[in-house]
Amino acid sequence: MMTSKTFRARRLPAHGVESGWAALLPSRTPTPELDQAITVDVVVIGAGFAGLAAAVRLADLDRNLSVAVIDADVVGNGASGRNSGFLIDLPHDISSGNFGVNAVAKSHNDILVARTAIQHYARLAEEHGWDEDVFDPSGKYSVAMTDAGTEHLAAYSLTLKSLGEPNQVLGATDIAEVTGTRCFKSGLFTPGAVIVQPTALVRAIADLFQEPVRLFERTAALSIKASSSGCTVKTPKGEVRAGRVILATNGHAESFGFGSGELLHVFTYASLTEPFTSSALGGYRKWGATPAAPMGTTVRRINGADGDRILIRSRYTYHPKIEVGAASIKSAGDLHDRKFADRFPDHRHLKMQYRWAGAMALTRNSVPLFGQVADGIFAACACNGIGGTKSTAAGIATAELLVGHRSKLGEIFRSFEKPQALPPRPFTDVGARLNLKFREWRAGRE
Ligand SMILES: Cc1cc2nc3c(=O)[nH]c(=O)nc-3n(C[C@H](O)[C@H](O)[C@H](O)COP(=O)(O)OP(=O)(O)OC[C@H]3O[C@@H](n4cnc5c(N)ncnc54)[C@H](O)[C@@H]3O)c2cc1C
Repeated sequence: MMTSKTFRARRLPAHGVESGWAALLPSRTPTPELDQAITVDVVVIGAGFAGLAAAVRLADLDRNLSVAVIDADVVGNGASGRNSGFLIDLPHDISSGNFGVNAVAKSHNDILVARTAIQHYARLAEEHGWDEDVFDPSGKYSVAMTDAGTEHLAAYSLTLKSLGEPNQVLGATDIAEVTGTRCFKSGLFTPGAVIVQPTALVRAIADLFQEPVRLFERTAALSIKASSSGCTVKTPKGEVRAGRVILATNGHAESFGFGSGELLHVFTYASLTEPFTSSALGGYRKWGATPAAPMGTTVRRINGADGDRILIRSRYTYHPKIEVGAASIKSAGDLHDRKFADRFPDHRHLKMQYRWAGAMALTRNSVPLFGQVADGIFAACACNGIGGTKSTAAGIATAELLVGHRSKLGEIFRSFEKPQALPPRPFTDVGARLNLKFREWRAGRE
C-alpha cells in the first residue's frame, strides 16, 4: 500500500520593510497568484537564488519538463533581493595557519561551487544583455580598518597565492584612491567576485521564465503531501500536483519540519544613504568591499540616476522565529550610522534613506540542507550566509540530481556531510546570541 505524509508550514515568511534595492527600481507587476489546481513535473517552492537557479537549470537540462515556481512573496522581497550583492568566488574562512592538504582540497571545492554559480549568472547576463547595473564582474576589495585587519589580509593574500588565485594587496594610499576615504589601512583586491544589484538580478531571472516554466508569486506553500508516486502542494487558492518538489525556502525548510534542530536563523542588516553628487566623494564611483574580519562591516558605493550612495551592512542577530521587529532594525541602524561616520567622517552629515533586514540560515558544520528529505521532496536550503553563490549552486545541483545529470558540482554536493544537530533550544538560543555578540565585539572597528 502506498503511504503518504503531509508536511504543513507552521509559519510563512515575513520579509519586513522594503529594501533600498527594491525602492530604487521601477515598480514591477508580479506574476499572478496561483488560483487553480495544476499538474507539473516539478514544483519549486521559493524563488530566491536557490529556487530560481534550480528552475533555470531544469529548463536547460530538459526543455520539455513542466515546472512551477511558487513564492509566498514577490520576487526580490526575500533575502536574495535584499543582500549586499556580492557573488564571492573565494572562501574567506581560510588562513595560512591551518592550511593542510584537506583544507586545500576543500578550498578548491568551495571555489568550484562558487564559480559554478557565478558562471551560471554570467551566462544569463551575456545571453540576455544585462548591463553592469545588474551584474558587474568588477572584482571586489577586502578592507582593513586596523593593523590586525591588515595582518589578516596579508596572510590571506599569501594563502590565495598558494592556491594559485591572483590578488593584489593595496596600501592605505592605493585603497583611498578606490574608496575616496583615508580611513582604510589596507585593502586586498580579488578579481573573480561579481557585484550585483540583487533585486534587479532576481527580477531579471524571474522575467525570463516561459512555458513550460511558470512562476506564481504571492503563492505560499501551505502544505506538501508527499508520497513516492508524487506530491501535492496546497496553496491558499489552488494546488500543484507534481512528481517532485524542490524545497528552496532557506530557513523556512524548518517551518515544514525539515532541518529541525539543525538550522540557525540569523538576520543581518543594511542601510543605504541618501544620494549625493558624485564629485562630493573622490575615488571610484562604484566599488564593493567586504571586511577583513568575517563579522565586520561591508561597504559599497553605488551610482544611479539620482546620484551616488553608500551601503553599509553590519550586525548579525539570532531569531529562531525567523522574524525581526523594528527595534532590531533601529539598533542595527544606529550601529550603521557609527560605522558610516568612522569610514566617511567628512560625509557623516549624509542621512540613511533606507534600512532593512534579511534572514539567513546557517548550519553548525556550514553544510547545506541538501538532497532528498522525504519521498519526492528535495531540499536546496541553508545558505550559510553566502547564498549568492552557495544557494545558487545548491539549486543547480538539486536540478541536476532530479534529472540524473552528473557533474563535479553534484559530486561535491553529494559528498557534504548532513547538517549537525544543534544543542537543545535553550542552550542554542543563549549560545547563539552570546556567540554573535562576542564575534561582533571581536571584529571591533572592522
Ligand atoms: C543584508 C544582507 C546582506 C547579505 N549579503 C550577502 C552577500 O553580499 N553575498 C552573499 O552571497 N550573501 C549575502 N547574504 C545572504 C544571502 O542573501 C542569502 O544567503 C541568500 O539570499 C539565500 O538564498 P536562498 O534562495 O537560499 O533563500 P531566500 O532568498 O531566503 O529565498 C527563499 C524564498 O522562499 C520563500 N518561501 C519561504 N517559505 C515559503 C513557503 N511556505 N511558500 C512559498 N515560498 C516560501 C521566501 O519568500 C523566499 O523568497 C546577505 C543577506 C542579507 C540579509
